[in-house]
Amino acid sequence: MEKRRGLMMVLSSPSGAGKSTLAKMLVESDPVIAMSVSATTRMPRPGEIDGKDYYFVNALKFESMVGDGAFLEHAKVFDHHYGTPKGPVEGALAQGHDVLFDIDWQGTQQLAQKMPHDLVRVFILPPSRDELERRLKARASDAPDVVARRMAKAGDEISHWAEYDYVVVNDDLNAAHAKISAILVAERQKRTRQIGLHGFVESLTA
Ligand code: ADP
Ligand code: 5GP
Repeated sequence: MEKRRGLMMVLSSPSGAGKSTLAKMLVESDPVIAMSVSATTRMPRPGEIDGKDYYFVNALKFESMVGDGAFLEHAKVFDHHYGTPKGPVEGALAQGHDVLFDIDWQGTQQLAQKMPHDLVRVFILPPSRDELERRLKARASDAPDVVARRMAKAGDEISHWAEYDYVVVNDDLNAAHAKISAILVAERQKRTRQIGLHGFVESLTA
């Protein structure tokens, strides 16, 4: 494999547009990208596993992690705190591994300030508002009032779409997955990420 610095790919969308589904497909289909596991103060949904989907922590623990500077970014979303632990991300990038983030626009803005050259921002849009609501209801793991609140907040999240490098409409799931995979392939070829290239080119011209 060519020597390169890993990249950070962010997927953001209004809740229910399909970013966790797409993130899972990407990680399963691509051996070089791994998911960043966030810490959150929200309760686990049925089937969610601590340490795999999130680190589920209480508010006190979250605060102490903030105090220790343990987060690369953190934000309050839907009344709960979410944050990206710093250590695993920095280690993966240095080893040439890519990291995938399912985080909101606030976290994306913080990463863009801190690590602009490593970041690839992808915004996922639903094909329609009706379909977004249908997907939120189909997920069936949130109570009806939670679904209603998430629908009400969808406009807020979508209003940040223009802060992203790429936009993918998640209509057909496999087509959306193929588009995001193509973005990943292209971004890996960026000259600035291929840090081993100087020596290689010198060997070609010596
Ligand atoms: P998010 O992570 O953005 O909140 P999810 O990935 O949990 O959204 O998706 C919400 C629901 O929509 C899930 O039940 C998922 O299976 C479904 N879904 C995702 N993408 C599609 C798609 N392209 N077509 C139909 N259903 C989808
Ligand atoms: P959910 O509760 O549905 O898993 O996530 C709610 C929202 O929080 C989603 O928009 C998701 O992208 C965002 N989120 C999850 N983890 C993080 C994180 O570590 N940082 C930030 N800023 N947002 C996050």
